Order: sequence, then C-alpha cells, then structure tokens
Amino acid sequence: MKIGTMLKDVFESFFKKPVTQVYPLEKVDTPERFRGKLVYNPQACTGCCLCSKDCPSNAIELVTLDRAAKRFVLKYHLDRCVYCGQCVTNCKFKCMSMSSTDWELAAVKKQDFEVYYGNDADVDEFLAKLVAPNPGTPG
Ligand code: SF4
Ligand code: SF4
Repeated sequence: MKIGTMLKDVFESFFKKPVTQVYPLEKVDTPERFRGKLVYNPQACTGCCLCSKDCPSNAIELVTLDRAAKRFVLKYHLDRCVYCGQCVTNCKFKCMSMSSTDWELAAVKKQDFEVYYGNDADVDEFLAKLVAPNPGTPG
C-alpha cells in the first residue's frame, strides 16, 4: 500500500463511527438462539439422564431423591459447561433450554459456579444432606 493511500485511510477513520462496541458500557440484544446459562424445568423430568450421558465436559449431574415421586436435583457446573447444547438436544421432554438473556456468568468465588436446579424443597433437602456431618466419621 502506498504511504499516501495509507494516510488517507488513517485520516478518514478519524471521522468514522467505530464498529466495535464498548462492552460492558454498551450492550446489544443477544440473538434469540444464543446459548447462555442452562435452564432446567424439573416438572417434566423423568430422571432418564440422557442429558448428562452425552455432556462432553461432565457439567451436569442428576441426583435422584425419589424416582417414584419424580424428585430430582440437577447440579450444574457453570465453569465446566462449553455451551454446546447437547443436553438440550438429548432431552426428549424439553426440560432443558439455554437462556439467550442470562449469559454474563463471570464470578469471583468458585461456589458461584455451582448451580442447583429443582423444586426449592428438593434443593434444600439435597443441600442439607451435603452439609450434614457423616455419622460414620469420628467427631
Ligand atoms: S451445554 Fe453442553 S457442556 Fe453444557 S451442560 Fe449441556 S451438554 Fe454439557
Ligand atoms: S434428559 Fe431430560 S428428562 Fe432426562 S434426566 Fe435430563 S432433563 Fe430429565
């Protein structure tokens, strides 16, 4: 490129609006099919585990509290998920989707990357078992 042409381009660029966005000060709507945070609806879940079976990064674990009563808790590791959407495709009961609006998922603490889905009572019961001391260990 000739120096004259280059200088002309540089000069013209001073008067053009930048094509880049000044994120996070400036935000645009994400596309409808954008793959953000996983969303789980426990109402129709059968506990078949087809979602977790093919997850390439072991990002989801389905915990069965009571299969007959269809009480499940889905543990989702945000920091492992690669947002491929395979779990959504695998679920024949449309319990899973990926949010197009909830995608700003950065966090400082590791615990913030562990998300528990399910009915509130089921999640509370599951978390209570996690923190309860093991009766087999000496106190
Ligand atoms: S989107 Fe992909 S990586 Fe994330 S939980 Fe689903 S299958 Fe796993
Ligand atoms: S694939 Fe769907 S129905 Fe089966 S365990 Fe996963 S969320 Fe539940």
